[in-house]
Amino acid sequence: MKLPDFIESASLNSLRSRIKAPLSFYKLSIVLPAPQFKRRDPPPPPPVLIPVQGLDVDFGSISAYPDGTLIFDGRRVLIHIRDVADHGGRTHIPRFHISNCRTLIEMKSSGRFEKYVVAEAEDGNFYIRYNTGPLKITKLDVCQNCLENLAWDGFFNQMSKNSRSAIVSKFSPKRFFEKYPKSLHPVVPVYTSATAPINDYPENWDQISRELKRQLRYRCQQPGCGIELSEELKNFLHVHHKNALKNDCRPENLVCLCIGCHANQPNHSHIKSLPEYKTFVSKFQSSANF
Ligand SMILES: [Zn+2]
Ligand SMILES: [Zn+2]
Ligand SMILES: [Zn+2]
Repeated sequence: MKLPDFIESASLNSLRSRIKAPLSFYKLSIVLPAPQFKRRDPPPPPPVLIPVQGLDVDFGSISAYPDGTLIFDGRRVLIHIRDVADHGGRTHIPRFHISNCRTLIEMKSSGRFEKYVVAEAEDGNFYIRYNTGPLKITKLDVCQNCLENLAWDGFFNQMSKNSRSAIVSKFSPKRFFEKYPKSLHPVVPVYTSATAPINDYPENWDQISRELKRQLRYRCQQPGCGIELSEELKNFLHVHHKNALKNDCRPENLVCLCIGCHANQPNHSHIKSLPEYKTFVSKFQSSANF
């Protein structure tokens, strides 16, 4: 025995509309194209710090962070004197500073601060210019006043010379930047508002909605309506997301509605101001109840 075509059978359709049964049984056989979403951009990389090694800076552009470290252009830096000169045959190799220490405060008050440069090197090597010659990579020690200022490894100036030397030689800019990161910005979340999954239509939404309308033979699924629109009138037929999530395109979340029934869904009254809504109502007023 051949089963009747439930969609086309006039007697079944009139029975269905008399008992106001929805066309929901169609959904059992609905097969839709898989939604395709725009590939999400990977999370943005952490902010890139442009190296500022050996950059001449005005004293005014260096500030002290509340934790005592030195800030230039929104990041933690080390600073040191770059240009050194012989003084009676003796060259004083400068120390580098990690903190707004006593030495810097004195330098500042004597107006000598502009001789400093900022650095971010992690290996303890700095560019030093001797007697106006070319820059030379030089290993520098950390300033002891800075160590005391930050109480680095428990450093204080009244310690024995050996204990102080031990802490100085153990100090490395790498460890310093581990404790006091260069970037003052907090860790970037995995997804920003720009890359988070969004409630939006899949890229092939036109294909999905076209396919649903076709498989439902251009009929409104609203109980009590069921208006049949031919393919030419399919623009009066909308595909509505029951849970309002435009990215949830499972057949059970989709319902095919004429524009009249769609406009009656919660929060959809804006549809009534569309020109095609007015056209639709004037065209089909007699056959439907909107
Ligand atoms: Zn210092
Ligand atoms: Zn809708
Ligand atoms: Zn309808």
